[in-house]
Amino acid sequence: MTFPLHPNSTIGLVGGGQLGRMSALAAARLGYRCHILTREVDSPATQVAHAVTISDYADPASLRAFAEAVDVISFEFENVSAEGLDLLASLKPVRPAPAILRISQDRLAEKTFLNGAGATTAPWAPVASLAELQEAVGRLGLPAVLKTTRLGYDGKGQATLRSPDDLAPAFERLNPKPLVLEGFVNFAQEVSVVIARGADGTLSAFDTVENRHRDHILDLTLAPARIPVAVDQAAQEIARNVATALDLIGLLAVEMFVDATGRVLVNEIAPRPHNSGHWTIDACPASQFELHIRSIAGLPLLPVVRHSDAVMKNLVGPEDTALWPQIVATPGLIPHLYGKAEARPGRKMGHVTHLFPKGALPGEFGIADALGVLGTPPAP
Ligand code: AMP
Repeated sequence: MTFPLHPNSTIGLVGGGQLGRMSALAAARLGYRCHILTREVDSPATQVAHAVTISDYADPASLRAFAEAVDVISFEFENVSAEGLDLLASLKPVRPAPAILRISQDRLAEKTFLNGAGATTAPWAPVASLAELQEAVGRLGLPAVLKTTRLGYDGKGQATLRSPDDLAPAFERLNPKPLVLEGFVNFAQEVSVVIARGADGTLSAFDTVENRHRDHILDLTLAPARIPVAVDQAAQEIARNVATALDLIGLLAVEMFVDATGRVLVNEIAPRPHNSGHWTIDACPASQFELHIRSIAGLPLLPVVRHSDAVMKNLVGPEDTALWPQIVATPGLIPHLYGKAEARPGRKMGHVTHLFPKGALPGEFGIADALGVLGTPPAP
């Protein structure tokens, strides 16, 4: 395989969700075709793809046929089997490498790696038994957050422990999965950086953004984050260091907490496009999805620029979906819908972006006003 990939080459993407859909759209603009490997018929990515393989992610015959049909392989979600990716990597380049997916799939491997790369995390301890949990709580104190080490997302697979009485029920609920206890971070803000790294080590990072969650699901992203310059520089440096330490080829999102003293702690990393980077489609000439495709295809990674400030709001579940007629009728809202047939509660159905002139991101009331029917005014 020679890089950069020629126009009309085929990029294989494992996973059929909205991240694959938006990657495939960016790939199409660059003249590439996408072949999606997914378990689901009629998923968001397959609706906009050149070719589709419907298969389990661990079926060797399907994986071989998929690899045969594509020029390079990437993934858009992390709960794919790393062994499956290993098989793919024996046949075609897989970017990011399966070893990076393994790190991000397991919170213990992830924290060990992050700390080894010099990034600070919340204090943590592996937990395999109730006795170990009690011992870990003795060291880390309460409150603390107990999490499954694998397959957790959007707050699933975790419990906040506030009193000693919470330990046994939380352990019961999350056991027998391997667990990790994290010290509670009394964060002032949650921020993230999306960064791309090329095979030659070139780095290109989007601005640090602020993320706000509702019911453990990302609700709003504000670009840029309203943080002191020193905090911004720390977050950017962490993202650069982590991407380099991973020897990444591809895209990486680094989610971080900023505590009351301005210290930046890494919460988790994701070696793929990220919900907190969706604003880049509308506020940057090249989006996170274009950088994803550029990095895996070997195209130059130009410095990314933000031409506008932006607010991104997720459309989640049936409540937000019901507002679609008003959303598409609101001037200034840039709508994105993912093509999911069923709006289940908590399911990400789409998002909207509102742009502001660079440097003119408004305050809370201005943001709520700009979001129109989706804006909830802040509590008085
Ligand atoms: P995660 O699944 O690790 O991304 O966690 C989901 C959300 O839970 C985060 O975005 C935070 O809002 C919250 N959270 C996770 N870990 C901690 C922690 N150690 N301290 C405080 N809040 C946390």
